[in-house]
Amino acid sequence: MPEIFHTTILGSSAALPTSLRHTSAQVVQHHNRFFLLDCAEGTQMQLRRFKLPLMKIDHIFISHMHGDHYLGLPGLLFTYHLLGRDKALHVYSPPGMQQIIEIQYEISQLRPSFDVVYHELTDDARLIYEDQRIQIETLPMDHRIPTYGFLISEKPRLRNIRKSAITKHRIPQEQMTLIKQGEDLVATDGQVVPNEQITIDPPPPRSYAFCSDTKYTEQFMERIKGTSLLYHEATFMGDKADIAREKMHSTTLEAATLAKKAGAKKLLLGHYSARYKELEAFREEAASVFPETYLAEEGDVVNIE
Ligand SMILES: [Zn+2]
Ligand SMILES: [Zn+2]
Repeated sequence: MPEIFHTTILGSSAALPTSLRHTSAQVVQHHNRFFLLDCAEGTQMQLRRFKLPLMKIDHIFISHMHGDHYLGLPGLLFTYHLLGRDKALHVYSPPGMQQIIEIQYEISQLRPSFDVVYHELTDDARLIYEDQRIQIETLPMDHRIPTYGFLISEKPRLRNIRKSAITKHRIPQEQMTLIKQGEDLVATDGQVVPNEQITIDPPPPRSYAFCSDTKYTEQFMERIKGTSLLYHEATFMGDKADIAREKMHSTTLEAATLAKKAGAKKLLLGHYSARYKELEAFREEAASVFPETYLAEEGDVVNIE
């Protein structure tokens, strides 16, 4: 069974929230870890509404310093303080976040009960997080201010040894790890059994590329080749390409074109302008270029597979 790897959409709206749509935030769960991508206004209420474990979030990634991507952070930090959090919290963002938060602490004369560790994103740092199972790298977006997407990738897994081979060859414990790493089996009589006869391929690594906000760009396309799920902003529909370019955002058709060129398995659209009430037309328009297109809507849990 593959480990859990999915994203829960907390907000799908561009700049202006609507009565139905919140601004940008989503929680990516991989195995037992929870990562918050963007933290717009209302994020903490959405975390509660969708029953996500607030206290299990230790890493928050902010794509850029436009309000519709981070204004929920001061409130979430305050809530953590009231709940008595003592674990450190890691915040990854372009420069400026620490200043914004510190001035709020200063004026309210209240410092939180836990440490906030700020990681400033810059163009030269790609790998920003890793653990045993996954790594997270930045992707360069093309927007009005410095903006980063995030590529969350599973690390390659060890090979699986066939059960039948374990019994047949009585594989000794000390050779198990080497065989899982791809080595051949050397039997007690010196006979060599090739690795491919006794193991099967592990599941291929999965990845999630989160791209918001950006105008259409192919500058990171090579790095998201074959990604399991591409989340790409589509602030406007295709007929508003001029406004999209001027505001440095993308359209449905552009998001779909990138998904197609990158050979993504699925495309998830989001960051819709508040001017649109109905979203089905977004999906249809993008699907005319890239059929595996889905809409990000509040509460959706989208598998990364
Ligand atoms: Zn935005
Ligand atoms: Zn923006």
